[in-house]
Amino acid sequence: MKVLKFGGTSLGSPDRLKSIVDIVLQEERVLVVLSAVSGTTNSLVEIATALHNDDKDRAIDSIKKLHNHYVKYVENLYETKAKKEEAHKLIDSHMEFIMSFTKDLFTSHEEKAILAQGELMSTALFQFYLEERGQNSELISALDFMRIDKDLEPDLFYIQHNLERELTPLKEKQVIITQGYICRNAFGEIDNLKRGGSDYTATLVGAAIEADVIEIWTDIDGMHNNDPRVVDKTYSIERLSYNEAAELAYFGAKILHPASVYPAQQKKIPIKLKNTLDPQKEGTTIDGDNREFKFTAVAAKDDITVINIKSGRMLLAYGFLRKVFEIFERYQTPIDVITTSEVAVSVTIDDRTHINEIYEELRLLGEVRIEKELSIVCVVGNFPRNERGDGQVLLEAMKNIPIRMMSYGGSEHNITFIIESKYKTEALKDLNKGLFDL
Ligand code: ADP
Ligand code: ASP
Ligand code: MG
Repeated sequence: MKVLKFGGTSLGSPDRLKSIVDIVLQEERVLVVLSAVSGTTNSLVEIATALHNDDKDRAIDSIKKLHNHYVKYVENLYETKAKKEEAHKLIDSHMEFIMSFTKDLFTSHEEKAILAQGELMSTALFQFYLEERGQNSELISALDFMRIDKDLEPDLFYIQHNLERELTPLKEKQVIITQGYICRNAFGEIDNLKRGGSDYTATLVGAAIEADVIEIWTDIDGMHNNDPRVVDKTYSIERLSYNEAAELAYFGAKILHPASVYPAQQKKIPIKLKNTLDPQKEGTTIDGDNREFKFTAVAAKDDITVINIKSGRMLLAYGFLRKVFEIFERYQTPIDVITTSEVAVSVTIDDRTHINEIYEELRLLGEVRIEKELSIVCVVGNFPRNERGDGQVLLEAMKNIPIRMMSYGGSEHNITFIIESKYKTEALKDLNKGLFDL
């Protein structure tokens, strides 16, 4: 069985939705994972933010706008009056549900329930459309089998067993549809896998059912060698290893959710990145080991914070770094890049939720400086330890960019730079020229 995941842009208009149905129906038996219609999750975030700020008028205004958008969508998607009515009723009930939060106390639990509405609507509309076309399909709710544990990590055992229970009676169904992104947490409440999380749902369910392949369908023909939103001349990479893809996703290649490669890698299931606008294009296949390229690709991630801790006591002291790392661990804040000197250490984080608490505790260890508005630029490729000249090529390409930090040698496949975000575009363009001659 294959897993096919379609992102928001692939559902962005009724015509786009119809075209992905054609892709789905080419398969013998398939599990389809859908995101929300593009723009919906952003609108839901806006509504939730307004409610958090107790700005009810603004929330109501945004809900009405979203409702109107879906009214038009439904009118253009279905042929029959009966299906249009059914779909309007469905949308009305979701909008009433969202509207109900404008009357009550609003906490982060309610926020998660609001954010789940996008995927719940898109999957139901998709299923109605297949019904209208007389297709043999079934919708299963991700809330019945997707679960994260108390550390917010997917509970693989739970997912596998509960998904199997859902799928067993559906052996005769050609198309089974479910929601990406949404799940339940350890308390059984509605939660989600963070923004872009539908990719993660796809690889988690793909791993759970040991799918033949997991296809991620989006609006571009696979993973490109550089960020196509920033750099004009980029090209699609035909094959990537799991590790290369995971690094690029983690360091900012938005085409994949940062955690989504791991479940497929564990079960050795290939991931294909395909373009709904151009289905014939090969796209990118992610499988196996690293390829031969010297420079495979460049990615960048914004909103990075550097924390620099300087301490006289670090000199010749052991246990200092442990104390530093324990503070980050206590606040469940991952560190991405580290550089050290004899008297100071710089670390980067991208989750600033607990920055104040972390700062207060670090101050007990030494002098602390925090710098914001930084970007990580990550170069993925093959940099064997005994080879000469790689660093020179990279530094030559980066020669016009002030480098705040640099990490080389953590692995043979990744070199990262930390720069001020205002230099990111220039850095990505310069690397495109220096590494790929584009
Ligand atoms: P979806 O809605 O299908 O999940 P996303 O917007 O999450 O789509 O991801 C696709 C987008 O990722 C592309 O439109 C592209 O702009 C962006 N992107 C960023 N970096 C890369 C990269 N290295 N290769 C391909 N796409 C990238
Ligand atoms: N709809 C969610 C988002 O916009 C999940 C996803 O698209 O993958 O983040
Ligand atoms: Mg996405």
